[in-house]
Amino acid sequence: MNEIQQFLTGRMWLREHIPFSREDIDNEITQGNLTPYPGIQSSVKTLFTFTYQTNSCRRCGNHQLTAFNCAKCEGPCLYCRNCIRMGRISRCTELITWSGPSLEINQKVIFAWNGTLTLHQQRASDELMRSVKSNESHLIHAVCGAGKTELLFPVIAELLKDGKRVCVATPRTDVVLELAPRFQKVFPNTVIHALYGGAPDLKGFAQLIIATTHQLYRFEDAFDVIFVDEADAFPYSIDKSLQFAVNKAKKLETVVHYITATPSKELLRDVKNKSVISTRFHGHPLPVPRFDSLWNYSKQIKKGKLPRKLKSWTDERMNNNEPFLIFFPTIDLMIQASILFEKIPSVHAEDPQRKDKVLMLRNKQMPGLLTTTILERGITIENLQVAVVGADESIFSSSALIQICGRVGRSSEFPTGDIVFFHQGISNDMDEAKYLIEEHNRVKK
Ligand SMILES: [Zn+2]
Ligand SMILES: [Zn+2]
Repeated sequence: MNEIQQFLTGRMWLREHIPFSREDIDNEITQGNLTPYPGIQSSVKTLFTFTYQTNSCRRCGNHQLTAFNCAKCEGPCLYCRNCIRMGRISRCTELITWSGPSLEINQKVIFAWNGTLTLHQQRASDELMRSVKSNESHLIHAVCGAGKTELLFPVIAELLKDGKRVCVATPRTDVVLELAPRFQKVFPNTVIHALYGGAPDLKGFAQLIIATTHQLYRFEDAFDVIFVDEADAFPYSIDKSLQFAVNKAKKLETVVHYITATPSKELLRDVKNKSVISTRFHGHPLPVPRFDSLWNYSKQIKKGKLPRKLKSWTDERMNNNEPFLIFFPTIDLMIQASILFEKIPSVHAEDPQRKDKVLMLRNKQMPGLLTTTILERGITIENLQVAVVGADESIFSSSALIQICGRVGRSSEFPTGDIVFFHQGISNDMDEAKYLIEEHNRVKK
């Protein structure tokens, strides 16, 4: 099979970054198998009697382009800052995509999953399958620990067997890292690419892609079915260009399906087909947070003193050999606290060792971790105990708090655990999080 076809089917790549020789690329363009598009597209619009030109980045849809003096085209040019980490798109660059005959997908699919779904998972999985088949958008609203990934398995197995190309997209790199090995185990024969910022470049064609929503900038008209996991998570929830990326990556006539424990009001309103799962896969109730005041914690930490309650909470975890996470509202405060805790490392979004630290916590090579909201989702660690410092700070929205609570009691061997919100006054979001968790425990459907 043609390697260029495999690489570029459904993808759009900067011409100068394509890992094939210039001659080969030119050759395919002459034959009409590859089509180059200008990186910045212009269109003329009319408003009343005015006509004006708008420019946008073809890869990420961004309209706010930056003017600069370009050495390449020797004059004034425009470039896109929004997606610059994937190589600069300017007016004089070209994006290339496969436009030749479509790729025949005939990989043999082995579905190597021998788990069973709970009744709730099975119902949601069947409902999702029906929506996928009738091409109607579907929302799976499943509490943290309901086993939402497992319920995708039978649906994705059928799609892969039908020769469809499938994407599971999520705003969070940590979620990609957690999902990709699980999918690979279940579909051992399927080529699966895990794509996230800093991931190794992968050649060839993958029928199943697990990617951050950012990585979908590089796809166009590629997927028969897209599932967006954790659709309410930052930055997808507020970044229009990521929503543009998901829409561009799917085939024109298809819809997007969503999976989350904390759907936004917009998702609940816009997606008609829904499945709700209020029970965890192991049948135990969701851990309900307890509130505990922690006055002047910020001042104390800045003065080099750990608040007494926080210290005794942590000591108790260490004495019991229970792994723990402590969430902080800001990186600064977390780093100052980390110095005081001595043997407890911290992680945040830009931390290059984040992946390794989470792995070490999972392997019991460290007692606990201090973190920002970056670890609110996608993390499963057995017997985990959780504290939130400054739970009343605005960064801790009710959905962030629900997700954080969802880290506790996930395994059937350890279905409970402590989740404490340390605060300086109970916020509405704290109340709402607790209320919604108790509601699920009450409904249990
Ligand atoms: Zn762009
Ligand atoms: Zn230029």
